[in-house]
Amino acid sequence: MKLYEYEARNLFREQGIPVPEFRVVSTAEEALKAAEEIGGRLVVKAQVLVAGRGKAGGVKLAENPEEAYRYAKQMLGSEIKGELVKKVLISKAVDIDRELYLSIIVDRSIGAPVILSSPEGGVDIEELARSKPEKILKIFVDPVVGIREYHAREAARFLDLDEQTLKKAQQIVIDLYKVFEKYSCELAEINPLALTPEGSLVAIDAKIILDDNALYKYPEFSGEYVRDLSYYEAEAKKMNFSYVELDGNIGILCNGAGLTMATMDSVYILGGKPANFLDIGGGARADLVERAVSLLLKHPRTEVLFINILGGITRCDEVARGIVEAIKKTGVAKKMVVRLKGTNEEEGRRILEENGIYVLEEMDEAARKAVQLGGAI
Ligand code: GDP
Ligand code: MN
Repeated sequence: MKLYEYEARNLFREQGIPVPEFRVVSTAEEALKAAEEIGGRLVVKAQVLVAGRGKAGGVKLAENPEEAYRYAKQMLGSEIKGELVKKVLISKAVDIDRELYLSIIVDRSIGAPVILSSPEGGVDIEELARSKPEKILKIFVDPVVGIREYHAREAARFLDLDEQTLKKAQQIVIDLYKVFEKYSCELAEINPLALTPEGSLVAIDAKIILDDNALYKYPEFSGEYVRDLSYYEAEAKKMNFSYVELDGNIGILCNGAGLTMATMDSVYILGGKPANFLDIGGGARADLVERAVSLLLKHPRTEVLFINILGGITRCDEVARGIVEAIKKTGVAKKMVVRLKGTNEEEGRRILEENGIYVLEEMDEAARKAVQLGGAI
């Protein structure tokens, strides 16, 4: 999941990476106020996730707060490469001597983080990799050992800086790696890292992509952070589950389309809001159930998991084994309501209760419990 620039800037700032003073606003009036508060020359930046924002008119330099206001007014509500601009960032403009590049990415081919460093930042890195590959230095980091001083020194040296600035660059490499590690990033990028005429280094752009598989570890990202949940849809599709993303907090897992819809209804009627629903179909064995339950346990917005199974060709004991296994494997403890009825119901109940999961028999009762745990009643 990509973070917006202002979100990435916040994580950088938190870690001590120098970032220009900025505010994020969603109306032109707020933009004017923010611009006046910051004062002087400003940069107005559309908060969109598409690449090549600057070239598409999403980054404008303003000589004064009034001009910044006009740019913000133009940008808000417009589209940049098809993406609606809902927020803009008003940032203090930085004087730039040179634009540098620094990033940490996961190299999947070797399963390790790589530091990328280039003295020619500002441009698209893929383009640079094609035209001047010798201008990009790659440094592999052992993920178990983590970053070492010599990694940072090597990366900083490649930026072609004087001795004093080199030290600052080294610290930025280390801090960028810390952010990368702390938030399980796939990418943490500063492009450009601006070198000012006074010899300061400032991250004037910030890009972070979080690893979707690790999102469940960061509940703080579940609010406004979670918007691109296509990962869950994609994973469910791979396993041939019917899965639909909704916007509540109760995850719903059932077998069969009819039961799924009835379960949704019973939750809605009581005032609850499903976060999603997943239909495991007929006859799912424990391993498949485990994958389905794991997916919903990891889903960041799912606070309560409501599992409603009517055993026919689906066996309740297999379902129970899958649930227990999913909790063990993910290590995620969420509130859970399980209703099991039908084939091998007794055995299923025994397995779950041995593992501390209480099983309900009636659907209405179970729906009420799930909605209660979800906080709606
Ligand atoms: P991107 O196009 O989405 O990558 O947006 P960036 O934030 O990287 O901005 C694009 C370009 O605008 C940068 O490479 C700079 O050349 C320029 N720019 C952005 N912020 C500033 C600033 O504060 N001062 C100056 N002088 N140029 C800036
Ligand atoms: Mn950029």
